[in-house]
Amino acid sequence: MSVLVVVEHDRGRMADSSLEAFEFAGGIASQLGVRVEALLIGADAAGLADQCAAHGAVTVHHVATESLTDYGPDAHGGAVAAAAGLLSPSAIVATGSDRGNEVLAYAAAELDLPFVANCLEVKTADDWEMTRTQWGGSLNEEARLASSMPILSVAPHAVEAARPVAGATATVQVLDVTLPESSAATLIRDRIVMTEGVTLATAPVVVGGGRGVGSAEGFAVLEALAAKLGGVVGCSRAVTNNGWRPHSDQVGQTGTRIAPQLYIACGISGAIQHWVGAKAAKKILAVNTDPAANMVVKADYAIIGDLFDVLPAITDAT
Ligand SMILES: Cc1cc2nc3c(=O)[nH]c(=O)nc-3n(C[C@H](O)[C@H](O)[C@H](O)COP(=O)(O)OP(=O)(O)OC[C@H]3O[C@@H](n4cnc5c(N)ncnc54)[C@H](O)[C@@H]3O)c2cc1C
Repeated sequence: MSVLVVVEHDRGRMADSSLEAFEFAGGIASQLGVRVEALLIGADAAGLADQCAAHGAVTVHHVATESLTDYGPDAHGGAVAAAAGLLSPSAIVATGSDRGNEVLAYAAAELDLPFVANCLEVKTADDWEMTRTQWGGSLNEEARLASSMPILSVAPHAVEAARPVAGATATVQVLDVTLPESSAATLIRDRIVMTEGVTLATAPVVVGGGRGVGSAEGFAVLEALAAKLGGVVGCSRAVTNNGWRPHSDQVGQTGTRIAPQLYIACGISGAIQHWVGAKAAKKILAVNTDPAANMVVKADYAIIGDLFDVLPAITDAT
């Protein structure tokens, strides 16, 4: 028996969040006393077997059907359902990204089984007990699941990916899966690269600005500090609502969840919708004129002062 990890990748490059899925699956597998196995979908995923092994997979199942080369939710969900039918795993786990949740939802529908999205913690018993995030991370729900094959996604940053085990190897098995023609209903016809280099979601340092920055031009002091620290600039929704920064820079419930080593939140009050996107940061430094601001109260460190005095001083001293 096994916990089967559905690996998310883009043309053979594994998503970092899949490493968190392996870690999460490993926890479930040790509770059940079973092993971790991986499911790779698409011919271009073949090169990922060693990476799966380094993160705990003992066997890697590969579905290389040609129609699965580009992502389509019904086709990939159908492949997961077909693999589940062949392998009968104790549970199926994927990352709680948009794609991971979509694929598992399609698979669960095809298998006629329940699907629990965005889990933080799972305890296995006769009925499985899990804590999962709801409402964009502002609510944690305790749930019980009775299912012959639990299908779960792990909330982003709920666990930290373990270091890879050097030299680990896995057995690779090719799964012969035939999908109905109708499963190719969604096809990728074009790709646009939105972000290159370090992204908001993966940056080690994020310098975030809120309404307190006052204007689009005001972000120059944040850009200068971010450049010195090798980080990127993020912002609150007040900023995107004002048109000072694009939505791709927004941190929070309706923006990006970040997990940098350091988040410097400048002129941001720390509303719950912003906090849920920032709370996975390892350390938070708040820069705010208001000592009672929620962000200041929750931060690891705070500087009470005008960000236009504080940030240039940090940049000069760095
Ligand atoms: C459904 C829903 C979804 C939402 N999703 C998001 C989301 O994804 N992300 C998000 O951010 N928000 C989101 N919001 C909005 C959220 O509720 C807050 O309104 C928003 O986060 C406030 O932004 P802010 O902290 O920049 O502004 P404010 O709350 O106005 O805070 C400004 C802060 O700047 C400080 N300040 C002012 N001048 C200076 C200065 N010169 N130097 C230092 N400090 C200064 C003030 O003391 C204050 O603390 C959402 C709201 C809803 C209803």
